[in-house]
Amino acid sequence: MFCKTCGTLLLPKKTSYGKWMACPNGHSQPEMQQKATLQITPNQPMEKVVVGDSKNFLAVHDHICEKCGYGKAELLEIMPFYSDEDNVIRMKCGNCGKVKQLDGKVM
Ligand SMILES: [Zn+2]
Ligand SMILES: [Zn+2]
Repeated sequence: MFCKTCGTLLLPKKTSYGKWMACPNGHSQPEMQQKATLQITPNQPMEKVVVGDSKNFLAVHDHICEKCGYGKAELLEIMPFYSDEDNVIRMKCGNCGKVKQLDGKVM
């Protein structure tokens, strides 16, 4: 078996991941790498896990946060506890989480 890069005869190489044939000039052999990279490269699986950041995906309503100025907020509507009260509507900032209470009649 010869090196894919320089054609030199491969020599047995012993590493902590196992033993395989390697180029004495240090060229990596594609099919050999596959076994090793499974343990060495941690990049691949992480990308799928990071679906979003700290932003609130329920924050789709236009509302300027008075604290941080973020333009989207999550609508929290709270039904009146007593029948003679108006609905209480709250906007929760999608960025900093500040809740602004709005009077239902103003809407
Ligand atoms: Zn080589
Ligand atoms: Zn905010």
